[in-house]
Formats: sequence, C-alpha cells, structure tokens
Amino acid sequence: MAQKVGFIGVGIMGKPMAGQLITAGHTVYVYDRAEAPVQELVKSGAVACTSAAEVAGKAELIFLMLPDTPDVEEALFGQNGVASGVRSGSIVVDMSSISPIPTREFARKLEGMGVEMLDAPVSGGQIGAQNATLSIMVGGKAQIFDRVKPFFELMGKNIVLIGGNGDGQVCKVANQVVVALTLEAVSEALVMASKAGTDVAKVREALLGGFAQSKILEVHGERMIKRTFAPGFRVRLHQKDLNIALQTARNLGVSMPNTATAQELFNSLAADGGADLDHSSMIKALEKMANHAIGKDKNADKK
Ligand code: NAD
Repeated sequence: MAQKVGFIGVGIMGKPMAGQLITAGHTVYVYDRAEAPVQELVKSGAVACTSAAEVAGKAELIFLMLPDTPDVEEALFGQNGVASGVRSGSIVVDMSSISPIPTREFARKLEGMGVEMLDAPVSGGQIGAQNATLSIMVGGKAQIFDRVKPFFELMGKNIVLIGGNGDGQVCKVANQVVVALTLEAVSEALVMASKAGTDVAKVREALLGGFAQSKILEVHGERMIKRTFAPGFRVRLHQKDLNIALQTARNLGVSMPNTATAQELFNSLAADGGADLDHSSMIKALEKMANHAIGKDKNADKK
C-alpha cells in the first residue's frame, strides 16, 4: 500500500534510494541542504520540503542518508530538525554510516518523544543504490525492523537485523575496515606488478579466478587500471569511517594496525587534493611511494 515517507539527504546514495521508493508508488517528501538533487527528484514525483521538520510533519516513516554523525545530529535535533516536527508513533531510519555510540544516544532521545529509531547503514555503493541491491545492516527492535523491512526490500537485497540500536553501525564499521584493507592489498599488488613491467589488466583478470578474487578487485581494480576516480565513494567519507573504527578500537582496547596504515594512505591522498576522489584512488598514494604510476600517463586520470 502506498505510504507517505520522508527522505533527508539525497546525495550520491540518497537520491537513487529515494528514487526506488518513488518508483514503488510511495509519496516521498524530500529535504536536502542542496537544491539540485531535490529538484531532480521532484521531476520524478517527489515532494520538496524546506526543512527536516517539514518532512517529519508530513511523513511518519523518515529515512536519513547524510554524511557524518554531526550531520545526523543536526538533522534530528538541530534548528528545524526532525525532532521539532515529528509526531509520536513515527519511525526514524538512519541509513547513514555514523558512529555507533551517538547512534544509541539518538535512539534513546527519540524514544523519549515516542519515536522509534533503526540504524540501517548500507554497503554496495552507488551501483547498489541504483540497482536496489544494497546490503543493509540493521540495529533496533525486531518489531520495528519487521515494519520497515518492505521498504528496505525496495532498496536492497541482503537485509540483516544485526542486533539492538547501534549494532548496525558496528557492523558497517567492520565492513569499512575490510573494504579499506582490500583496497590497500589490491593497490599494492597492482603497483608492484606494473613496476615489474607486467600487464596489470591481465593480472587483474587472472586474479579474479582464484582466492584473491573480491568485489574490490573486480570493481575498484578496474577503476584503478582505467583511472576513473570520479566518486563513487569519496575518500573523505572513508576517512570518516576509519576514524570511527580507530576510535572504537581505542575505546575497546583493540589494536587495528593495518586500519591505521590504510587511514594514513587516505590522509596522504587527501593532503594531495584527493579528498573528493573515489576511494579506489588510494592507489595514487602508493604510486607516489613507489615513484611509479600504473597508467601509461599519470596525468591522464579521469576526474
Ligand atoms: P553525499 O555527500 O553524496 O550526500 C550527502 C547529502 O547530504 C548531500 O546532498 C548533502 O547536501 C546532504 N546534507 C548534509 N548535511 C545535511 C543536513 N544537515 N541536512 C540536510 N541535508 C544534508 O554522500 P553519500 O555518498 O550519499 O553518502 C551518504 C552516507 O552513506 C555516508 O554516511 C556514507 O558514508 C554512506 N555510504 C556511502 C556509499 C557510497 O558509495 N557513496 C556507500 C555506502 C555508504
């Protein structure tokens, strides 16, 4: 049955995700600080709102897809935020990748207003959002998960209730560690193979058939070779995720030495003007250290 739903944050991920809800026939109230993506969604049938509070006043199921923890806090509890327009009995679903501990505080605060919350970060990138094949890692109460699941099924395929509030975010942190370290492994292997004079496209092709196979080798390995570094997933967002990982590790008394190294490579890349490139550009930091670029022309990177 068609419902009124809200969507706050319609950037690289949020725009196609909100688009899936519109295609399914729901009335989608959208808000983003930026005008352009809201207007694009209006052309496909969305209703534009001028604040998060207005979205919350019109829809009882409100999705958020924002960059970082302070953005979610502002959209929920800041001036003209969700909290100032929301009705008791509504459900807030935060699909952004943010820190697990504040997530638990946000859920407690909303519960005090009679509002339920799920954290539901995703994996699968822009392509997964466009094809509705995202993995969705959910934290919150089972009965709330069951109510929102039909909407998750419009955006993703592998939808798992991990545990209580914040546990979806913990799972996403684990995901981002694996992705960063795999990016590093693929980058190191391709730079080494290229400097040895070997055809890296052939190396990738061969590795895709064995134990070194991974989605990162397939998708990001191709981007590295073809030098297509337009985001995708921005370096600055992966830095944010590894920061959450390293802070969480410190709080828990866990050592994550290779996560720290991956973060240093992103730091170097960002310092070199790469913060808004796709994270597959991590290879550029390693190329600099090897004084060797795997493309024929290191100035040929497509932005
Ligand atoms: P993005 O920067 O493309 O989009 C974020 C949008 O939020 C922007 O349009 C921005 O204007 C808006 N925004 C920021 N603060 C706001 C506020 N207070 N109120 C209203 N709008 C606000 O980012 P993205 O790539 O879509 O990523 C969103 C989240 O999804 C991040 O947490 C990211 O880590 C996560 N994620 C991204 C990918 C990916 O491949 N891009 C994959 C998985 C998860």
